[in-house]
Amino acid sequence: MNQNLKQLIELNRLESEILQLEPVEKRIKKPILKLEEEKAKLEEQKEELEKEIKELKLKLGKNELTLKEMKEKLDNIAKKMSQITEERELNALNIEEEVVKSQIDQANEEIARLEKILGRKREELEEVNKKIEQIDAEITLKSVEIEEKLQLLEKQRRTLFEEREKIIRQINPKIFSFYEKIKRWAGTTAVVPVRRHACSGCYMVINDKLFGEIAKGEDILECPHCGRILYLEESPESEKEGA
Ligand SMILES: [Zn+2]
Repeated sequence: MNQNLKQLIELNRLESEILQLEPVEKRIKKPILKLEEEKAKLEEQKEELEKEIKELKLKLGKNELTLKEMKEKLDNIAKKMSQITEERELNALNIEEEVVKSQIDQANEEIARLEKILGRKREELEEVNKKIEQIDAEITLKSVEIEEKLQLLEKQRRTLFEEREKIIRQINPKIFSFYEKIKRWAGTTAVVPVRRHACSGCYMVINDKLFGEIAKGEDILECPHCGRILYLEESPESEKEGA
């Protein structure tokens, strides 16, 4: 067979093998990607909970401040009460005292309500943190395994690339650029075998004259229908004949 044709067939084979490694890589990484997705969702929950907790603490602080102010007010009322004797004024202070006491009750109730919610949110946060820790542990465990597989894959890829580079260095540059042009639209089916008298790229039948020429393997021939480079696969018998 024509040396250039042989090189093109090999080049095409190597390039499609390189391409086939991509889905393999995705499959290897898939379990960890899933875990990372889960982790990202939990991190979002964590952030939301932390925000809620911060807001609750702020509200609690405000209510505690109100409570403190009300208690001071109550002390002042008590002080005033001890100083005055007039009944009318005393009555007015009594009413004021009642109002402040009821405000204190309200603030206390609100504080209790907020603390209950805060406690619940803190528990939820603890739960989420635990789940994140678990996922991190799983990721670490899986990473080791995946890293090994990826390294092996990388080694394979490097070998294929090196073989490809070797051919590109040897091949006739004109033939190489011709191949590259076909590759732009045909991808890894730029060089295809003729099977059952048809181009296995476009499945159109090849006429006898062209088939005969392809069978000789002396030239680089294109499919007249689609433009891919065609060759005839060597059967074990013909290999023996050639030897
Ligand atoms: Zn074709």
